[in-house]
Formats: sequence, C-alpha cells, structure tokens
Amino acid sequence: MVNKVTAIRVRFAPSPTGELHIGGARTALFNYLFARRNGGTFMLRIDDTDLERSNKEYIDKLMDAMKWLGLQWDEGPVYQSQRVSEYLNEINRLVTEKKAYRCYCSVEELTAGREVARKENRAYLYPGTCRNLSPETEAIKLQEGIKPVVRLRTPDEGETIVNDLIRGEVSFDNRGLDDFIILKSNGQPTYNFASVVDDLQLKISHVIRAEEHLSNTPRQILCALALGHELPVFAHVSMILAPDRSKLSKRHGATSVEEFRSLGFLPEALVNFMALLGWSPGGSEEGSDIFSLAEMIDVFSLDKAGKTAAVYDTEKLTWMNGQYIRDCKIETLAEVARPFFIKRGLLPKKNGEDELQYLSKVIELVRERSKTLVELADLSFYFYRDDFSYDQKTLEKAFKKNGAAKILGDIAQQLQELKTFDRYTIEGLFNDFCLKSEISAGKIIQPVRLAVTGLGGGPGLFEIMELLGQERTISRLIRAAAFIQDEQR
Ligand code: GLU
Repeated sequence: MVNKVTAIRVRFAPSPTGELHIGGARTALFNYLFARRNGGTFMLRIDDTDLERSNKEYIDKLMDAMKWLGLQWDEGPVYQSQRVSEYLNEINRLVTEKKAYRCYCSVEELTAGREVARKENRAYLYPGTCRNLSPETEAIKLQEGIKPVVRLRTPDEGETIVNDLIRGEVSFDNRGLDDFIILKSNGQPTYNFASVVDDLQLKISHVIRAEEHLSNTPRQILCALALGHELPVFAHVSMILAPDRSKLSKRHGATSVEEFRSLGFLPEALVNFMALLGWSPGGSEEGSDIFSLAEMIDVFSLDKAGKTAAVYDTEKLTWMNGQYIRDCKIETLAEVARPFFIKRGLLPKKNGEDELQYLSKVIELVRERSKTLVELADLSFYFYRDDFSYDQKTLEKAFKKNGAAKILGDIAQQLQELKTFDRYTIEGLFNDFCLKSEISAGKIIQPVRLAVTGLGGGPGLFEIMELLGQERTISRLIRAAAFIQDEQR
C-alpha cells in the first residue's frame, strides 16, 4: 500500500445539490493551497451521478462561488454523469474477475434481514446470499426480470488501514464491512465506486476532503485494491462546528459562500477565515491572523491541519472582514462596494466618472467603521440622501439643549461666507466660533454632526462637510434649526 506520488494532483468534488457551503469551500481551499504550494494540479470534479438531486443551476452557482473566492481550478470540470461508461466497464471487469458479483436479493428480503439485526441490537451486514450463485441460477433470475445490483466481494477478516496525513493510521475491521453495492439496480454506480474510478483514472495523488468521508475510505480502498491500482494519499480535514459546538446548519445564520457574498463579505476575508478553520500556520509569530492567499500558499502544509473539530466564529469573520475593508485598495473597494450602494438605492445602475469619484471619497471616510459592504452602504446614506431622520438618542442630547437652533443658524451663516470650503478652513471657522461664543467645541460639534448626518458618530465632521459641499451642508444646518424650532413650539 505504498503510494508512489509522482505528480501532485488533487481534486475538489462537490455534489451539485445545493449552494457551496462553507465546509465545502474550505475543502476546495485546502485542495487549492496544497496544489499551489506543491506545484501540483487542482481539478474540479462534479459528482452529479444522482441525476434527481443534481441541478445545473447549482453547478453554475458553485463555479461562480469558487471563482469569486479566487480558487481557480486547472483542470475540469469533470462531470461524473459523463463518465458512467467508464464506471460500468470497470464494474464488468470486476464481475468477470469475480471480484464483484450480481446480487438478486429483493428489497423485502434485505429489509427483513435489517429488521432482525435491529431487534438483536446489532449492525446489519449483508450476509453474502448471492456471493456464489451458479451461472444457471443467475440466468433464471435474469429471466425472471430481476434487476440485480452489483456488490464488491470484500474480505471476511483482517483490517483495512487508512493512512491519513492528518489522522495517522486509522484501521477498520473488515468484519464490519459487508459486500457493499457498487452498482445500483437502476444502473447507476454508487458514489464510493465512481469516486475511486475517477481518482485512479484521473491520477489523483491526494484525496483531501471532509472528515465525514473517513468512514467511506475503507470501502474506497477495497474498491481501489480490487481494481488493481495504487492508492492515493488521504487527508481528512476536521469538521466545522457552530459556536455552540452543534452541527453547523441554517439556524446558525449564513452558511453558504453565496450568502456571505450578499451580506457584504469580501472573498479575501472569507478565504482567510476559512483557512484558519482546522489549520494554522504554526510558528511562534503572535498576533496577526491576516494572510493573503499568496502568503497562505507559501506556508500551507497538511501536517499543520488539526484533528479536532474547528469552531466557526462569525465574530472573527466579521472582524477580519473589517480589516480587509480597511486595508483594501480604494479603487477595488469602490468597485466591489458599488453593487451594495445600488441595492441600497444610493446609486443608479450605471455610473459616470463623477459618481465613481464621489463614491471613492465617501468610502474612504466611512470604511474605517464598516465591517461589511452592507454596513458600508448603510453608513454612507447621508452622503447621498437628504431625507434622513435624526438619531433619537443623540437628538435628546444635542438638539434639546437651549440654544442649539441658534448655534446651527449662526454656523450656517458663517459657513456661507467661506470662499474655500475645505476641512481646514471649516475647522478654523469652528475654532474661532468656539473662542468667540465661549461655548465648548463638544456642544457645537454634536448638534452640527446630527444636523449634517442624522447620526451621533461617524468620520471626521469637517471631512464630511467638505465632501458634502457648502450648499448641502448649509441647507442641512438650516433644516435642523427649523426642526428644533418646530419641536419647541
Ligand atoms: N461528492 C462528495 C461530496 O460532496 C465528494 C467526496 C470526496 O471528495 O470524495 O462530499
């Protein structure tokens, strides 16, 4: 069972029966990193033999999600549905070589056997009823129109050992493995068999996949041995649990790449976050968990993947996303954030150069406080719309003080006189105003900020005013002064 690895070839093999889940995406990422780190080939295989559950729409979405994450495959997609004849050839070969056999047992017979096992409190194993049928008996069964399944003849004793790069040697007692089905009665090969034929024929050197497939591996090894091929190296990546350590599911919020995308996460952040689920770069460097894809490729190795389940922590993801938003090149950020501004109704679908420049400036100011692109658009509202309402809590403090309306009116009047309207000139004006009126800066800034943005906090007030421009700033101050007077009446 020695593996002679000549070329590194790995595959990600999703079943297109739903959106790309974070667990699947993490498996894809580990395969990708492993291939890139070792100068290997990363293949995409679509496990679509279950025609009823597989869906073309999901295949497209899956590929979209992988591209969005930056996990470009080198070969494929290879569709299992297009390789059925390969599987059937191999099954026929195994039957001819007596390594597999047709089984004619009826569903009723099998169910009855299962029922007995259940009552006796033991696991059901197929008893091998059809293991040694004579050709005559088989001919009769076929004549009766019974559609057989094909089962692999498995050893009755000994053990099958999985040499796993992450888990070490895991042995399975062959007595716990029955002659399992490799071809269903509807003519479809089973996942375990098809997957092995693909891995062998497509010369996959390393099978890196989710831990839940570890229990399939002894069966797959038996298939590979029957087929007479070398085995790939296996690496079963630990599962991902929800923060409460239960199985990750919909009730824990977003779980698919697509959902994270529409919630305003950046692909770089999601990739960074996923890489650290069940893997760590090791070393003694304290602190930063932030790695670019290129940096991850440099340090990736499977011996640093953990055996224990990884706990998925959305707060960490959100924090990371905030870091990426903060550090992203402004043009890139504006480009990826634009659809969120359109969705929020702040921008039309098509944008001119001026709009794009304005967007970049807005984002430059707001991004520091935004953890997602949705939040970035939300917090930019007042740069686009005048019809905001005032934050109630701040309003109590800032507008309900005596003199607030007068302060706003006076500032508006003085701003009107400015010849240049930039942050420095505005700041100078505020300083003078404080000195002359003997009112503290805080008492002035707070109502002005609320008047101009509707909010109690945010980016530097003078920068906001500069970007809004003289006219809009002043009209907002006047609107707020009028609002306060109305309230007081
Ligand atoms: N189609 C299987 C899955 O999505 C592939 C498992 C494997 O990598 O062998 O879980």
